[in-house]
Amino acid sequence: MNPIFAGLPTTVFEHFSGLAREHGAVNLGQGFPDFGWPDDVVAAAAEALRTQSNQYAPMRGLPALREAVADHYRAHQGLEVAPDQVVVTSGATEALAAAILALVKPGDEVVLFQPLYDAYLPMVLRAGGVPKLVRLTPPDWRIEEDALAEAFGERTRLVIFNNPHNPTARLFGREELELLARHCVARDALAISDEVWEHLVFDGRVFHSLAAMPGMAERTVKIGSAGKIFSLTGWKVGWAVAPPPLADAFSKAHQFLTFSTAPNLQAAVAQGLAKGADYYAGMRAGFAAARDRLAAGLGAEGFAVLPAEGTYFLNVDLEHSGVASGDTAFCEQAVRETGVAAIPLSAFYAEAPVTSVVRLCFAKGEEVLARGIEGLARARRL
Ligand code: PMP
Ligand code: GLN
Repeated sequence: MNPIFAGLPTTVFEHFSGLAREHGAVNLGQGFPDFGWPDDVVAAAAEALRTQSNQYAPMRGLPALREAVADHYRAHQGLEVAPDQVVVTSGATEALAAAILALVKPGDEVVLFQPLYDAYLPMVLRAGGVPKLVRLTPPDWRIEEDALAEAFGERTRLVIFNNPHNPTARLFGREELELLARHCVARDALAISDEVWEHLVFDGRVFHSLAAMPGMAERTVKIGSAGKIFSLTGWKVGWAVAPPPLADAFSKAHQFLTFSTAPNLQAAVAQGLAKGADYYAGMRAGFAAARDRLAAGLGAEGFAVLPAEGTYFLNVDLEHSGVASGDTAFCEQAVRETGVAAIPLSAFYAEAPVTSVVRLCFAKGEEVLARGIEGLARARRL
């Protein structure tokens, strides 16, 4: 067996979702919404299942979806993207794997930010990359110049970046993006920018793609996910957008991971991506209301809630909430004894974890949130 995978535990999301099922707990752990998907996109998929091909889609994706992705980024983010720069994948997870396998050679140094989304590090190690970790800490989770200067070096080949950031719920702003871009350009490094949360930003904040920063268009693989845009996480339709040489290399890895993605779902996503600004405004308002409901309920129970600028997660700081136990012990107890699953932030660190922060998914209806708040309040008093 390959020791990189043989030595890994099952992901923290599966672990706590399994415990939630076993103990009948409400699940504020793994990130998936229980409201908010557009019925017309689901109906379009059902129609496409009956009326369109159910055989292999073209390897790089249905032309209609590749065009829709290019149009979407032109309209919403001002990016000049041609359809042949788009490769459709089975979720952002596959896009990450294909990008890492295609871009990293054994011995290449790869800069990563921790807390990090769980898929990044094992795939970098499997590709033979040498991780260089930049550690972000609460409450600001800021990217600092000194930390970048230390992580980037002569052998840096790639940076893997995520914005808006899971699990910290930060939206990195233009200043931090430009700083990162300067380091990439100076070291002639490539970037994988995981932007799956690009539409989930709150309180009037504006998302900027790393690909739009000076010198980055020609060196960035931008990753997106219909699972996040349409609250249809089970569909696993994602994509990568990259300059032609990178898109070519990417597609060579993609062709042996999954080759192609369900054509009917692609057709429905293509239709959905044509939605205008109203859809996104409505979506953000719905999620922001859920965020505020959870934050207010937790605040009333004495929890210290950290700001949630983007994604559908918010974090609580246990130490500042007067909870003595660490994040893992708290989450294990909450799911087993007080009926609510959450994710300990330490699971997102490869080394020197922050151990007093817990991540909660707020993309839930009122009743689920109320039960979650009540369970967390009881866990706090244990
Ligand atoms: N990257 C990040 C930062 C995510 O949060 C997620 C899903 N939560 C993914 C990738 C995976 O996306 P998908 O479900 O489309 O594979
Ligand atoms: N990305 C989701 C989260 O952060 C989980 C996805 C998964 O379970 N692989 O909760």
